[in-house]
This record gives sequence, structure tokens and C-alpha cells, in this order.
Amino acid sequence: MFSERLLTWYETAQRDLPWRSKIKNPYHTWLSEIMLQQTTVATVIPYFKKFLQKWPTVEALGKASLDDVLVEWQGLGYYSRARNLHKCAQSLAKEFPTTEEDLTKLPGIGPYTAAAIASIAFGQSAAAVDGNVIRVMSRYYALPTPKPIGEVKNRLITLLPQKRCGDFTEALMELGALVCTPKTPFCQECPFQRDCTAYRLGEVENFPVKVQKQKLPTRYATAFMIRREDGALLLRKRPPHGLLGGMMEVPTTPWEENRKLGGGPTIRHTFTHFHFEVEVSALSDTGLFEGIWVHPEELKNYALPTVMKKIIKVGLKAL
Ligand code: SF4
Repeated sequence: MFSERLLTWYETAQRDLPWRSKIKNPYHTWLSEIMLQQTTVATVIPYFKKFLQKWPTVEALGKASLDDVLVEWQGLGYYSRARNLHKCAQSLAKEFPTTEEDLTKLPGIGPYTAAAIASIAFGQSAAAVDGNVIRVMSRYYALPTPKPIGEVKNRLITLLPQKRCGDFTEALMELGALVCTPKTPFCQECPFQRDCTAYRLGEVENFPVKVQKQKLPTRYATAFMIRREDGALLLRKRPPHGLLGGMMEVPTTPWEENRKLGGGPTIRHTFTHFHFEVEVSALSDTGLFEGIWVHPEELKNYALPTVMKKIIKVGLKAL
């Protein structure tokens, strides 16, 4: 049986990760799942530990200021996750709901995360479909469509065991992370080698079927390094919603396509939907921009996204 074989494999192969323990803690599961979206396990581990040290319970996290949460999140990227994390912690009465359906009503918890928490933390029979699971299932069944989320979910529901649903969820993701890897999977070590359709067809590299990638547009802007005589730099806060919402920045011109930059120092950064090219320029303070003055050695106390850190680094060096 699929689940038995998977669980037997998992018992010996699983990694010892800080959010895995015999006694389930929904806060730990939720925090790790949010952090792990778009981010590797190795990157997440120190952040996960730091968050738990600072905010050992979800109530403590809910009482923290958003600015503090954003400062601790610096470097993990996709900052809407941090804002939703904070909002979700604040909105919880005391405990997490236990069903997939109720969990999806919380800020920042989509269908995948809801199913993952319901199964891992509460042992519910919920099918959590992430990138790892899609890859394993696409190969196992040789599924012909790109991103077959619905189909994988339907098939997974039929494979879920009566007991140990949470282990099943973690085990399948673990198989995707350790054995059925994106490039050159270790089929010789896989418990499903005999039944895997893609393997039997000798077409493992053709699954999952790829989505045609669209070329990303580029947006351009000029960022202004406005310094006071004592060296302090003008920073302002971005609007609370949207890209990098609530984080700090140096003032910039609007971020636009179809614009030419001058010849000053530039940095390049890639967001999910566009590339960003920024010319860094010195500007004297004419009162045009409002904000706060921060000395370079105090910048670490502010929630600066990576793109702004790059801009400031270049600005402080070159201007
Ligand atoms: S046999 Fe290979 S391709 Fe198939 S599930 Fe296992 S690791 Fe993935």
C-alpha cells in the first residue's frame, strides 16, 4: 500500500527539523509552513528559532508590533507573509481552528497551508499539495498537465491512511525534498521505484510537465540618497499594503517601465513579477520628501527589504 510504504521509508529517512516533534504544536507548524513558502529549509531554520525565542507563543506574536516582526523577517523575502503572519496571530481568539475549512479563513493561510496544518498539527485527513508533492505525484502517475493541483489533491485523498495523516503529509514532502528531487532524482533509493509510471517509462525528466515561462518586464526608478550634515539618511515608510508594504525605503521616483536611466551607479533586483533597475543618486534635502533620519549604524533596527539594502550599500559607498 502506498501510505504504508511511504511511512516506513519516512521512519528512517526523515530529517530532524526544529518544527518536527512528537507532540504537535500548531503554532510551530503554522510558523514553519509560512516561512517555508518559497524559501529553503536551511534558510528558514535560524529564522524559525529566532521567532520562537522572541515570541514563544502565538499570543506573544500577536502582541508584538508589526515593525518588530518585519525587522526579524528581514532577509526572508515575500514580506506579505510577515504582515499576514502578524495579522493572523492578532486575529486568533486563543487557539488555531482545527479544520481545513476554518483555517483557510485566517489571513495568509491558503488551501495548501490550511491542509498542511490540519493534517500535521491536528491529524485530520487533509491533502496538502505543495511543489514537492506535485513533483512526486506528477512522476508517479505521469500526469500530463503542468501544475495539476486539483488532480493531485483528488488522487492524494484516495491514498491518505486512516491514521497518521500528519506523518503522511510530511513524509510525501520529505520524499520530494530528499529523493524525488527536481533534478536527477535518486530513484534507486525511492520506495516507489517499482510502481512509478515516469520511472518505468524512462521519462522521469519529462515530469512534472513544465509551464511555459513568460519573460519578466523590467521597471526602472531613481533612488535618492538624501543625507543630513551629520551623515543621517532620510528613510520613509512604504504604504501598508502592496509590494513591500509597511517596510522602510529611501525615496524613489515611481517604478516604471519604458524609462531610461542616467549613467550613475545602478543596482538590479528581481521580484516575482518583474526585474527592477535602480539608479542611485545623491539629493540635497529640499523638504520634498518626508521621513525619518537614520544614522547608517542604526539601519539594522529598521525593516529594510533586500532591494533597499542593496541601494543603500551602493549609495553609501559611491556617493
Ligand atoms: S521512482 Fe524516481 S521519479 Fe518516481 S517517485 Fe521515486 S524518485 Fe520520483
